[in-house]
Amino acid sequence: MKKTATTLADGREILYFDADDTANRDATDPRPLEPTTALSEVRRDPATGEWVTIAAHRQGRTYHPPADECPLCPSRDGRASEIPADAYEVAVFENRFPSLAFDSAAHVGRSDAPLRTSAPAAGRCEVVCFTSDHQASFADLTPEQARLVLEAWTDRTADLSARPGVQQVYCFENRGAEIGVTLAHPHGQVYALPFVTPRTARMITAAAEHRVRTGGNLFEDLLTAERADGTRVVLAGDHWTAFVPFAARWPYEVHLYPHRRVPDLTHLDEAERAEFPLLYLELLRRFDRLFGGGTTPYISAWHQAPIVGGHELALHLELFTIRRTADKLKYLAGVESGMDAFVNDVSPETAAQRLREVATS
Ligand SMILES: [Zn+2]
Repeated sequence: MKKTATTLADGREILYFDADDTANRDATDPRPLEPTTALSEVRRDPATGEWVTIAAHRQGRTYHPPADECPLCPSRDGRASEIPADAYEVAVFENRFPSLAFDSAAHVGRSDAPLRTSAPAAGRCEVVCFTSDHQASFADLTPEQARLVLEAWTDRTADLSARPGVQQVYCFENRGAEIGVTLAHPHGQVYALPFVTPRTARMITAAAEHRVRTGGNLFEDLLTAERADGTRVVLAGDHWTAFVPFAARWPYEVHLYPHRRVPDLTHLDEAERAEFPLLYLELLRRFDRLFGGGTTPYISAWHQAPIVGGHELALHLELFTIRRTADKLKYLAGVESGMDAFVNDVSPETAAQRLREVATS
């Protein structure tokens, strides 16, 4: 794999990941772009202890552009996009309208007052373009292309984890207008966060409690139990297993774990890296078959241990759709949005059965 780092006209970094070691990535960005200034801050909710990012400067961002103005397509035919090259395999660049930016630290103050704890939203938001094919989706990629995306996620995790102030690196994909995706081009995002996210913090607490109660690691025990039971297992390889969690929050939700507990993507070995694309692509294709064809909106979220204090946390991917039936979405209503208490209308065992039925034959 070849990685090429260069910059866009306003100084933002762009990285190309190529399976083809001879790829030429010398194209420069011809656009007259002024550097933007990020003024976001993170504030700690004193009532819950959860961090909230306040990014009030992002209202001008690109919203549902027509396909011929897609900023994630390669630059071609005299039209300059966010990606100067006229073709690419996988490209990663800094978001022009980020909610987190390292230079926030130069513009935004910090407060340690107990009820007014805040800090600059110093971090990074990157866009990961999975393919230059505007019409494709992740599920359409070849295993080789998906492997290249995995290498890009791994590279970003290693690089961003080493930067001052970063506490957690989060790689994810939102897919589908129903999820609120504003650009149809197949892409995901990487956030380098200056705090530990609420869901990760709760997992770390749960793992610590499990350790005290049983002496074991929560995630290892969970995976062992699901593999032994099998009721909720959707797909299993030599190195990874996917199952619907016992208390799934979403109608169709699958968690994919490597059998060997590792804290993050950088610790996966070659055998695990080689097998991941096969299982993940199959899962995505099953999601698309759930409701009689077409594309299923989903969120795909990598859970990685934070830089400090998360040694019990196991790398895994959580994939879920907000779709309940072919014509119904699950909306987060009063009980979910108001109280973080989910009500799921599909039993996890039924969801697992359905996800096995739509396997590639
Ligand atoms: Zn595009």
